[in-house]
Amino acid sequence: MGRIQLKQVKKSFGDVTVIPPLDLEINDGEFVVFVGPSGCGKSTLLRLIAGLEDTTSGTIEIDGKDATGLPPAKRGLAMVFQSYALYPHMSVRKNIAFPMKMAGMPKEEQDKRIAAAAKALNLTDYLDRRPGQLSGGQRQRVAIGRAIVREPSAFLFDEPLSNLDAALRVGMRMEISELHKKLDTTMIYVTHDQVEAMTMADKIVVLQAGVIEQVGSPLELYRNPRNKFVAGFIGSPK
Ligand code: ADP
Ligand code: MG
Repeated sequence: MGRIQLKQVKKSFGDVTVIPPLDLEINDGEFVVFVGPSGCGKSTLLRLIAGLEDTTSGTIEIDGKDATGLPPAKRGLAMVFQSYALYPHMSVRKNIAFPMKMAGMPKEEQDKRIAAAAKALNLTDYLDRRPGQLSGGQRQRVAIGRAIVREPSAFLFDEPLSNLDAALRVGMRMEISELHKKLDTTMIYVTHDQVEAMTMADKIVVLQAGVIEQVGSPLELYRNPRNKFVAGFIGSPK
C-alpha cells in the first residue's frame, strides 16, 4: 500500500495562491523526491498530503480512498521531522514508543516494533540513551524510528538532513535509500538539493512557484529536460 493521488489540488493562503491546481500520481513503493528552489511550495505540498494543511480545493486519495478531509492521524502516513523534534528528557526507547503509547497500543506489541525498528536502524545498543548522548546521524535515525513503528503506508520527509554536516548527509542519504529497499514502502522526500534528488529518487517532481515543471526518473529528466528551468536545475547539458 502507499498509492497517493492528487487531483486538481490547490492551496491558497488568503488571497495568495501558492499551489495552483495540480495533478500528481505516486505509486505504491515509489521513492519520490519533490525538488525545487526555496519557497516553491515543496513543504506545503507535503503538508497537504500529510493533512497538516487543508486543501483549498481538489482531492487527495490514499490507497484509493478519499482522504481529503481526514486528520493527519487517520491517513496512515508518517512524517519524519528533523532530529531536533525528539524529546530530550526521554530515552531513545521512549521517544520511539511515544506515538504507539499515544495510540494505546499494547506494551508487547510496542516492544516488538521498537526492537524491529532499532534493528533496521542499527540503534539496538542505544535504546537506553537520551538524544543528547547520540551523534547527529543517530538522532536522525531515532526520528525515523518513531515513524517506522507506526507502520505507515508512506513516509514523508521534509529536508530531514538539512541540519547535518556534509559528510554525515552523504551517509544518511545511503541509509534512507537502504531503508526504502528494506521496507519497500512509498517515500516522499522533499529537498532543495539536486544531488539528493538525482541520487535517491525513483521519480523526481520538479517544482517552480507551485507548478510542476516536470515529473520523471533522474535519467529521463537529465536526458530530456522539458525546459531551461529543469535543465538548469538538474544540471543537464541541454
Ligand atoms: P518550500 O518548502 O519549497 O521552501 P513552502 O511550501 O514552505 O516552500 O512555501 C511556499 C510558499 O507559501 C512561500 O511563498 C511561503 O511564504 C508560503 N507559505 C507557506 N506557508 C504559509 C502560511 N502558513 N501562510 C502564508 N504563506 C505561507
Ligand atoms: Mg520547505
